[in-house]
Amino acid sequence: MRLQSIELSGFKSFAKKTALQFDTAITAIVGPNGSGKSNVAESFRFVLGEQSMKSMRGKRGEDMIWNGSSAVPRAGRASVKLIFDNSDRALSLDFDQASLERTVHRDGVNDYALNGSSVRLRDIQALLSQANIGASGHHIISQGEADRVLSASARERREMIEDALGLTGYLYKREEAERKLDKTAENMREVEAVRRELGPHLKFLQSQVKKIENAERLREELAVSYTDYLSREHWYLKSARAELQEERGAEHQRKELDTKIAHLRAGLEKKHDKGSDELIALEERARKSRSRRESLVRELGGVEGELRAQARMGSEEGTVPMREARSFGEKIVQLAEGAQWQELLTFARSFLQKLTSGGEVARAKEELEAKKRVLESEIKTLEIEEAQVGQQLAALRQKIESDKDASRDAERELFAAMAERSSLESALALLRSKEESLMREEERFKEEVREAGALLQKIPEYEGQMVVEDESRGAQEERRRKLERLKIRLEEAGLGNSGEILKEHQETVERDAFLTRELQDLEASAQSLRVLIEDLTKTLETRFVDGIGLINKEFDEYFKLMFGGGSASLQVTKEQKIKRGVELGEDEGGEQEDVEVEEGVEISVALPHKRIKGLHMLSGGERALTSIALIFAMSQVNPPPFLILDETDAALDEANSRRYGDMIENLAKKSQLILITHNRETMSRAGVLYGVTMGSDGTSKLLSVKFEEALAVAK
Ligand code: ATP
Repeated sequence: MRLQSIELSGFKSFAKKTALQFDTAITAIVGPNGSGKSNVAESFRFVLGEQSMKSMRGKRGEDMIWNGSSAVPRAGRASVKLIFDNSDRALSLDFDQASLERTVHRDGVNDYALNGSSVRLRDIQALLSQANIGASGHHIISQGEADRVLSASARERREMIEDALGLTGYLYKREEAERKLDKTAENMREVEAVRRELGPHLKFLQSQVKKIENAERLREELAVSYTDYLSREHWYLKSARAELQEERGAEHQRKELDTKIAHLRAGLEKKHDKGSDELIALEERARKSRSRRESLVRELGGVEGELRAQARMGSEEGTVPMREARSFGEKIVQLAEGAQWQELLTFARSFLQKLTSGGEVARAKEELEAKKRVLESEIKTLEIEEAQVGQQLAALRQKIESDKDASRDAERELFAAMAERSSLESALALLRSKEESLMREEERFKEEVREAGALLQKIPEYEGQMVVEDESRGAQEERRRKLERLKIRLEEAGLGNSGEILKEHQETVERDAFLTRELQDLEASAQSLRVLIEDLTKTLETRFVDGIGLINKEFDEYFKLMFGGGSASLQVTKEQKIKRGVELGEDEGGEQEDVEVEEGVEISVALPHKRIKGLHMLSGGERALTSIALIFAMSQVNPPPFLILDETDAALDEANSRRYGDMIENLAKKSQLILITHNRETMSRAGVLYGVTMGSDGTSKLLSVKFEEALAVAK
């Protein structure tokens, strides 16, 4: 890799675009004080990504930009472009040429470009470290800075040496790995925090799931119990209903009894009425017939009396026997007493007539006898009739008597029927109350089936179940109570939105598992990063120790060359630094001292013929010689592609200037050298000389000069 050119535009005093070609191994830049030579050296720092403005003699980015003069207006930005020949692919870029460009704008914003493409600073640094162009800038020694390697702290010196040894690439890698490790640790902390946060929620969900599972078990138990209970209940109700249906026969029986009772009653009433009517009629007939016969018998008696009176008168004319007269008188009295005035009159007249004429007596006698015969016949007829009616009455009475016996049987039958009916009635009342309670039980059963359906989300199968056990209702009651207890427990389990909880639990478990995997992945990558860091540290350690050995050899030689004797060496030191303020828990004793081992590099020198042991005892020139010896030694061990030395030779006397010149030529075999110098000896070793002058417009101007011209320009 070779430096080809650098192009400055708007950078510091280089207002206009100015390019320097580096075609030879040694290029010298000469010019009067204040012309802008150091600005060129700084332009290298700038384009290589220097972040310290102080090291470029500025306070902020803006200070790098041409600030204007009365003749040339200020620039809006400063940019520097560095071009390398990369045909050896020292830079891992698949181009023969690598152009690096940095631009700073007035607002302080920086742009980096690699072969025209915008890149990040870190990309530039990583790329350059491959070619041993580190950030510490050990290859750019600014004016008065050669001494820096001596005045730096042991730790800074170590960094410079690491950079010179080309260990920056490893350091970058290690820093990158450490950054990644930090980031990984941070990610792990974050993931752990999320997981910790998830913990209580997961725990809560787990307890909920346990409850749900418990409730599920209860529900299963409930389903089994329900099936058993409902099957039995169904069977019981069915058989109770059938039994009741059978008992229903009593209703029919009662209807039949009602009909029978009505019939019996009616029969009894009818018989009684009919028998007595007939008896009354017959008795009336008998009474009338007797009364008529008695009247006829009396009349017959009267007719017979008259006949007897006639017979007597027929024998004793005109006289009336005493007995007849008395009979006449008695008859008159009897009729008068009976108020039978008509009969009395008739009797009296006939008596008188009987007394008056005998012819008439005969006629009257015939009449009386005819009458007597009629009466007698009539009486006879009545007597026959009376006998008949008597017979009928006797028969009827007998019939009534026998009917009365028959009624008594019917009554007995009626009473029996009524008794049966009343017992049936109470049986039916019992049946009704049974029916009512069965209906209530059936209603409750329906309600229970509905409730079971709601609780189990499905109605248990109870119809097809065979229940053969014959048991008391008490056992079923006990089952029902058990069901109630189960329902209460299920209710207490409170399974509102179990689906959602299960889903959330599943999701949370998955999330937790995901986080756990994430943590494992992070831990794995953290582990490989730790291994990488360890490896890099070991490599760095070995290379550093080896490098120090090599530098020491060169350092000692250069030192001897410069001082004509003596010795110099580097020592790796380990310093224990105490860090304070690490907060710890009270039981651990509050603050604790944290010891950190800091590795550094110390320099020890021994001048010839002088008993000088410390760097602080060296003169200015001796310091310059020592630092040059060290810088050159470092460069020799791991030569950088180029080395910029800004007036490193300023303090050298003539003899040392020559030795310096020799060393430069030696160095130039391995690195391109850009030397800013006023030293004639140094100028004489350069292949190309650039003269920098400050124009009246305040801008730096560049011109290629010959050695003689250079001597003049440098003044
Ligand atoms: P010496 O030989 O004394 O070391 P030099 O040649 O190295 O001098 P520089 O230090 O490179 O000179 O140049 C400094 C000059 O650059 C000064 O005159 C300064 O005013 C000028 N300068 C620095 N920054 C800017 C800027 N931003 N704009 C304009 N001019 C600037």
